[in-house]
Amino acid sequence: MELRFRQIHLDFHTCEHLSDIGSRFDAEEFAETLHSAGVDSITCFARCHHGWLYYPSDRYPEKIHPYLKNKNLLPEMIEACHRRGIRVPIYITVQWDEQIRHEHPEWRVMDANGKVGDGPYTDSFYQDLCVNSPYRDYLKNITDEILQTLPVDGLFFDIVSPRDCSCRYCMESMQQQGIDAYDPVQRQVFAQQSIDSFKLDMSAFIRNQNQDCSIFYNGSHINPSIRSSLAAYTHFELESLPSGSWGYLHFPVVMRYARTLGLDCLAHTGKFHTEWGDFHSFKNREALEYECFHMLALGAKCLIGDQLEPCGKLSQPVYDLVGSVYHQVQQKEPWCCSAKAVTEIGVLAPHGFYNGSHLHLPDSLLGAVKMLEDRSYQFDILDEFSDFQSYKLLILPDDVAIDNTLEEKLNHYAAQGGAVLASFESGLSADGKFMRFIPALPLSHQTTDLDGKPVRGKFYVSNNYADYLIPKGDIGKGLPETEHVMYAKGLEVQATEGSEVLLPAISSYFNRNWRHFCSHRQTPSSSTPSYDAVIRRGNVIYFAHPIFKIYNERGAKWCKTLIYNALNMLLPRPLVSHTGPTTLHLYLNQQCSASRYILHALHYIPLHKSNIDIIEDIIDLYQIPIEVAVSQDVKQVLCFSSGTSLPFEHSNGVLYFTLPKLHGHEMIEISY
Ligand SMILES: [Zn+2]
Repeated sequence: MELRFRQIHLDFHTCEHLSDIGSRFDAEEFAETLHSAGVDSITCFARCHHGWLYYPSDRYPEKIHPYLKNKNLLPEMIEACHRRGIRVPIYITVQWDEQIRHEHPEWRVMDANGKVGDGPYTDSFYQDLCVNSPYRDYLKNITDEILQTLPVDGLFFDIVSPRDCSCRYCMESMQQQGIDAYDPVQRQVFAQQSIDSFKLDMSAFIRNQNQDCSIFYNGSHINPSIRSSLAAYTHFELESLPSGSWGYLHFPVVMRYARTLGLDCLAHTGKFHTEWGDFHSFKNREALEYECFHMLALGAKCLIGDQLEPCGKLSQPVYDLVGSVYHQVQQKEPWCCSAKAVTEIGVLAPHGFYNGSHLHLPDSLLGAVKMLEDRSYQFDILDEFSDFQSYKLLILPDDVAIDNTLEEKLNHYAAQGGAVLASFESGLSADGKFMRFIPALPLSHQTTDLDGKPVRGKFYVSNNYADYLIPKGDIGKGLPETEHVMYAKGLEVQATEGSEVLLPAISSYFNRNWRHFCSHRQTPSSSTPSYDAVIRRGNVIYFAHPIFKIYNERGAKWCKTLIYNALNMLLPRPLVSHTGPTTLHLYLNQQCSASRYILHALHYIPLHKSNIDIIEDIIDLYQIPIEVAVSQDVKQVLCFSSGTSLPFEHSNGVLYFTLPKLHGHEMIEISY
């Protein structure tokens, strides 16, 4: 099922301390405001985090919001929207419900110390309910009633994530299954199984009554743990409000992973200046444009989050803003329908990505994504279950843990001629040995601190254990042949026989500590080579330093240059390249049925003007030379915004053309 492109998620968490709820709601005006703004789908509320219902429930009349003026709020929204062809998926809260947690304290998630939520004096509804408790029956009853009484296009279940729970129901269940509830690791596995079985159970329950509706469970993030409940989903929604706690990097990371899993993706942002619940605030239009066009470029559909004010009337200025962007999206859609990303590099996700939340993306992965995007490499993020064969090159950034199955898969990939760029501890097994294709062996002695703890990969304020690289040859292109600091110590290794040491690490005079130190930061170079730092064997290049983390932590451009040089050696002709600034990002998609590639160009610069990144301006670029590897016979290169054909050259499988002007976002159609 292909999702709609112009969606709204209309939050409506409305407490009982407000009256006249929905007093200014007018179904026709509501739907017409959406229609005029180009909206083609809106997720509306059956039940909110405060625990109130917004439809005429017969089963739980006491749960209908006490001050709701029109008990048919949701049914009337759906009916008026349907008359205009607008889909209306229905929102149901799961793990947060302010009323249920008071009525049934025994249904709450309890941690291993007996602690439940943030205590009685918290000013939020962020207190989890356990889906292993009888609360699940309540959820099913509500869902059943909605399916029985309302036309259901889709169901959006919110707040559905694994929770480490030691409530009586979880403990009984663990005991029955022979799980040691006292062991935090076993409890975590049980938590994942519990949430998976909840999702699969709920989807089966829905399918008994409705074969077609879309179904999504929101956990604010998508990572490899979703694989075990994939069958419960019809599509993915990527909650990722860049000006909220997600930041601008979360969406590209998660989307580059999610799009490899085979389901259509819908990306969330918000009309809010910051995030959900930021009433009467406005996203800068330039930022909203960037966020939506970025979604199109990465192959996602667009969703803008809003919150309906208690009176029930949509804010016209908000929908003027939404419309100013969605009318542009509407024009661009035909070039985005069924488009598939064309990629050649796979970045294998470090283990930290497998279970973490949206707040904790691994530094090594972030460093790799920043570097690759800044040079418009075409890449996906993969996990150990992904198919590697369609990628020319795999990157294993810094800390990709390897087990036997993955080792076999990677050895096979390298043996088939696939190129690999690995760094630091990637490829190191639990017993401290490298997998076969890494051309290095760890030395028996690894530097430790004064307490005897290993220092490799750690960052110290004064860079106490820093060492140096002297770039030269192909790997050092563009850098002066002199010491360049590496802010964190690498894994001390020696090259295996038959491999080539491209660069050694150069040690400092001494490691900085209270006994001896020099100046404000790291001790300078002693000019003495120590361990082997950059090693090549055939199609594999290995960096001993945590070079991706160093780039993410300190932004040292020479780290990026070294990686670009290594990529040039392994992948001399990338799919896409340009000579514009690093803030210009290009994304190559293909619409096979229309025999064309669509190259998206984006140039928006988020600036750290406050504790969130802000976009206020569009800075135009002119006369950008672009190269795209295209094997087909190119018929035409067309610029979307001007509608003009661009002059091009096509030789030896490479298409050369110049983009005359870029104002924010451009699509270049390459027909063959
Ligand atoms: Zn529980």
